[in-house]
Amino acid sequence: MTVIQHATRTGLADRYGRVATDLRVSLTDRCNLRCTYCMPEEGLDWLAKPELLTDDEVVRLVSIAVTHLGVQEIRFTGGEPLLRRGLVDIVARTTQLTPRPEVSVTTNGIGLARQAEALKEAGLDRVNVSLDTVDAETFKKLTRRDRMKDVIAGLAAANDADLTPVKVNAVLMRGVNDTEAPQLLEFCLEHGYELRFIEQMPLDAQHGWDRSTMITAEEILGMLTERFHLTPDDASKRGSAPAESFLVGGGPQTVGIIASVTRPFCGDCDRVRLTADGQVRDCLFARTESDLRTALRAGADDEELADRWRRAMIGKLPGHGINDPSFLQPSRPMSAIGG
Ligand code: SAM
Ligand code: SF4
Repeated sequence: MTVIQHATRTGLADRYGRVATDLRVSLTDRCNLRCTYCMPEEGLDWLAKPELLTDDEVVRLVSIAVTHLGVQEIRFTGGEPLLRRGLVDIVARTTQLTPRPEVSVTTNGIGLARQAEALKEAGLDRVNVSLDTVDAETFKKLTRRDRMKDVIAGLAAANDADLTPVKVNAVLMRGVNDTEAPQLLEFCLEHGYELRFIEQMPLDAQHGWDRSTMITAEEILGMLTERFHLTPDDASKRGSAPAESFLVGGGPQTVGIIASVTRPFCGDCDRVRLTADGQVRDCLFARTESDLRTALRAGADDEELADRWRRAMIGKLPGHGINDPSFLQPSRPMSAIGG
């Protein structure tokens, strides 16, 4: 039996031959920023504590994913994962699994300066830090909080703790930070961070996304090439990696663009998501979820939970359909799904 055939039988395979090996785990839907492309100023109706998986429940499901379902990469996200008290312990227990998965965290960076060392000691491999601007005023406007310095300090701490390569995620919004692509790249080149732009997606809680005003990958590339010499990075074959990568000035540093809207990569998707309340989502844009928490709390054994998880993947659609006129945004926003 080939590796693919084996994975199709035992792993998280869908009807289109894709096998999910990359698990995104949301540890909380709460956040200490209010990015305008993500959530409203007043925040959201957060999940109540009893609904959230406990640390032990998170580790149990992650462990089943790794030991029974072929998951190789775990990314903890949210909401803001650094707000989860048990994060360091969850990371430590995840990095002790066999086979050892790659473990990373996506964070807004606030509080990372304090936690970077402990996360490294817990075995964390890498961090992705979201930073959409290097202008303090724009940061305040975009996130509705005056915390840019904390993020910059968090990035530096991650680098010092060797949580590398430190990746920076940036979303551009027209009229807000859309002219800042070159400055962001300059900042990242100067500090040795790997910058990736993400096209804004219809996943905001306010349903305010507008296809006609979003900044496209092509526009971003246009702005960057006015200032930098970019060449396609052939070494990093796109595969299931969503970012198209470019060498800056001949390399070795790179910049990536994740064109989820204008150049979808659903055919190569290897992702699956677990929400903070124990629901499996086969796609960011899925309109249905599969409940693992109820079975888990009712005493299901690992085999049964693994089976439920496998079955949850069968309905995965071939694509997200954002560009289809009949597209409907999922009812959960990105912050509650785990981006
Ligand atoms: N709070 C953490 C952070 O901001 O990195 C983790 C969760 S956040 C939902 C994960 C990533 O999703 C961030 O890089 C953020 O910029 C991105 N994101 C949030 N809403 C988005 C949207 N509507 N379109 C594209 N990216 C979005
Ligand atoms: Fe919070 Fe991340 Fe959403 Fe910004 S993008 S509001 S930091 S969850």
